[in-house]
Formats: sequence, C-alpha cells, structure tokens
Amino acid sequence: MRLVIAMMKHETNTFSPVRTDWRRFEEWGAHVGDAARRAYEGTAMPMGAYLKLAREAGAEVVTPVATEAMPSGPVAAEAYALMSDAIVDAVRRGCDAAMLDLHGAMVAETTGDGEGTLLQRIRAVAPDLPIAVTCDLHANLTETMVRNCTALIGYKTYPHVDMYEVGEQVGRILLRALKGEIRPVMAWERRPLLAQTLRMGTDDEPMKTLIALARAEEQRGLLAATVFGGFPLADFADAGMSAISVADGDAAMAKAASRRLMDAAWERREEFLYRHEPLEEAVARAKVMREGPVLLLDHADNVGSGGTEDVMTVLREVIRQDLEDVAVAAVWDPDAVQRMAKAGVGATVTLSLGGKTDMPSIGMKGAPLDVTGKVRTLSDGEWIVRGPMYTGVKVTMGPTAVLDTGKVQIVVVSRHHEPWDQGVFTSVGIDPKTKRYLLLKSRIHYRAGFAPLARATLTLDGDGVTTSDNSRLRFAAVRRPIFPLDRLNAPPERTA
Ligand SMILES: [Zn+2]
Repeated sequence: MRLVIAMMKHETNTFSPVRTDWRRFEEWGAHVGDAARRAYEGTAMPMGAYLKLAREAGAEVVTPVATEAMPSGPVAAEAYALMSDAIVDAVRRGCDAAMLDLHGAMVAETTGDGEGTLLQRIRAVAPDLPIAVTCDLHANLTETMVRNCTALIGYKTYPHVDMYEVGEQVGRILLRALKGEIRPVMAWERRPLLAQTLRMGTDDEPMKTLIALARAEEQRGLLAATVFGGFPLADFADAGMSAISVADGDAAMAKAASRRLMDAAWERREEFLYRHEPLEEAVARAKVMREGPVLLLDHADNVGSGGTEDVMTVLREVIRQDLEDVAVAAVWDPDAVQRMAKAGVGATVTLSLGGKTDMPSIGMKGAPLDVTGKVRTLSDGEWIVRGPMYTGVKVTMGPTAVLDTGKVQIVVVSRHHEPWDQGVFTSVGIDPKTKRYLLLKSRIHYRAGFAPLARATLTLDGDGVTTSDNSRLRFAAVRRPIFPLDRLNAPPERTA
C-alpha cells in the first residue's frame, strides 16, 4: 500500500496586510519531500498521527510537502501552486490513498477556496482515491471540500490541543475503509452565522456544549462529528460556522446529526458575539489587581489570526497607566532587534518600537511607540515546544531581543509568532510565573501554555486586523444575509 501524506496549512485573514509568499511558509515550516516526513514524525500534529498509522500498517509513504505559515493575507499564487502541485503530482504518480493535514480557511490569490480547489484537482487525476482530511476548528467549510474527499474531520479544541487525536481518528477511518470494513459517507450543514473567534474557546459556552453534542453524536454511532467555528476574518462567500458528520453507510444519519448540531449553534448565536469594553477602563481594572500573573490579551492584534504583531495601542496604554512588572510577548520589529543587537546586552537604547505596518483594510497607519530601556537578552529565537499545543515542533522567532524599561520587559521578534507557549518567555530568560502581568498578542491559544498560571485574564480592545469589532471591517464577498452583520431571526439557508 502506498500513501500520500501531506500538510498544507494557512489561516488566511483577508484583511491582513502581511504578505503570504513562499518565504513566509519557510519562516514557520516549508518542508519538501523526505524532509516533510522528518519534520513532523513524532510530533503531535495530524501529520504525525498519519505517519504513525502508516508505519503500523506497513505502508509505503510519500510526503510531497508539509507547509504551514502563520496566519496572514491571501497566499501568493506561486506559493499556492508550489504546494498544491506537489501534492497533486504525488497522487498522479500513483497511490492507494491520501491523508491530508489541512486548515480549511486558506484563501489564495488564485482561489478563494484553497483546500476545495486542491481536493478537486486531486479527484480530477484520481477520481476514486480515498482521501482523509483534518481541518482546523476555524475552517470555513465548502461544498467543494466535502464533495472531493472521503472523510473530513476537525479539531474539537480551541486552543488546538487535540490535533494528534483527530488525525488518528480520521486516519483510522480511512484505513478501515480501505480494508472494506466500513463505508464512510458524509453530510454537512451550515447556518448564516459569522461567529467571533474570541467567543469560540472550547472551555467556554457556547462552544463547550456544542462540542459535547458532537461527541455525543459520535457515541451514538457516527464515525466522526465536527462543529466548525469558522474563521470570520476571511471575507469569503462561505465563511462561518458549519458542521460535518461521517457515518458508516447511512447518509441520512449523518445529515440529521449535522442538522442537530447547527440548530443548536443557531439557537445560541447571540453568545458568539463579543462585548466591547473601552481600553482605558480595562487597563484601569488591571492596574488594581495585586495577584499575578494577570493575563492581558491584545486580541485585536492576535498574530495567530493574521495580526501584524506591531500595533502598539494596548502597550502604549499599559505604559501610560504605569503598570509595573509586565512581560510582553511579543512585538514584531526586525529593525529594532538589529539595533539592540548592535548596541549589545546591557546597553541603553531608545527605540521607535513597532508600528511599522500600515493596515489599509481598517484605514490605519502604523504608529510606533517611543520607548527607552536596557537590552536584556539577545537570542536566535529558536526553541522546541514542550507545552500541549504543537508539542515537539521547533519554533523559529528569528533574531530576538528583550527590551527592559524597568517596569516592562518586551520580547521583540523578527518573525511573527503567537505566544501560546511559555517558551516565548523562558527561551529569552523571563520566568512568566513570577510576573505580575503578561501582555500577550493572542486571543484563545494563549490558554494552552498560560491558562494554568493565570490569576485573572482581561481582554484588552486595541486596534488591528483581528479586531472583534465588525464595524471596523469592510465585508464585500461573504454571502449575505449573515448574522451578526445582518440581524437575522431565522436562518434563510439550509445546505443541500
Ligand atoms: Zn485555529
């Protein structure tokens, strides 16, 4: 048996000004051929699970690519072609099945449906090929995706700490189907619901209940059931929540389950909206909190959803209100890192920090923050994740420096990196447990590494292309009407 196992992942924020070319994939992970296998074997990624299953089954494995870039703007045409051509070519050379580790919300310059287009091309060269697919909880599911694979499943956790389990679950479904033990059939459903990412944490309601309902559907006999929160920062026709179920031969059973899941989501649609609090008030509330660490979330500049990681609005307010004993992860500013490296550890520098990126989609110009401090640490920004998300994967933040103002320690990086693991601090000599405040450019993923430390958590409403304030975003392509852009009382659409 010959298996094509590949990974091609990007969560595309169509409002993000950050360019997603091949180089950006190289910054996080762009592995071709056998290097793709070596990079993810033994990791807690879906691809790691696929490789383990293949080895157990004694299969011959071909790994054309394993690529992922941190969320950012639409994927450049040549990068998309490079990745998808490699996978399609590997299938064309002959295989018995494919196991794909995808995201589900990739928008490329050449196609709004990055995953659907890939799967359609694979099926064009191998019409009956059994294909297993994992997607992120933030996938924007499409009919083209569903129609062109055998079994599709998504993560049930946000932060995504079950990537390995879902890879294993859908990989086993595929292997059983290959042996003729089961016959997977899928049905999906959606409602016009653009849920906000900040309200999708699976430890919180309403996602907690929806995920429990999906698990209950699996216990009643489905091979897999998934609720996708969707990715609302993609101005794409099919953006939004959906559910997909995989049954053994019984399409009606799959359809009924997906319908129940989406009815439950629609019922609770108001709970998927984030309630705004003025920034000054939230920082003032933080200031009187004595017991740390208090987590301060700069969620409108969340790197892991396409934020530029250099919006200084929240940090400016934290410094203005004179909070003390703060560690910040992270500010993206390669020039500032170079200046600090030149000055050397121990030197005092005055920097025009961050604010290097304009954000035309929300009508904002980059606004740096003038700040003086000591260069505390210089590093190459490389470390291995030991926490529960991306366990075993090597992180490359690029040349990294810590600026210490006396009250605030700022980790400054050269590559975009969302702080979901304590390694972002410990790798540069900061012990996050001892800090009174941790200011994180994250939204929900921070929980993977930092929730166990947190005495309190505040969401700080700054600026940026991952804002939870829909009035700042100009949607043009998403299908209408859709809640909450339109105040709908009844869902006008039902998926065929
Ligand atoms: Zn996600």
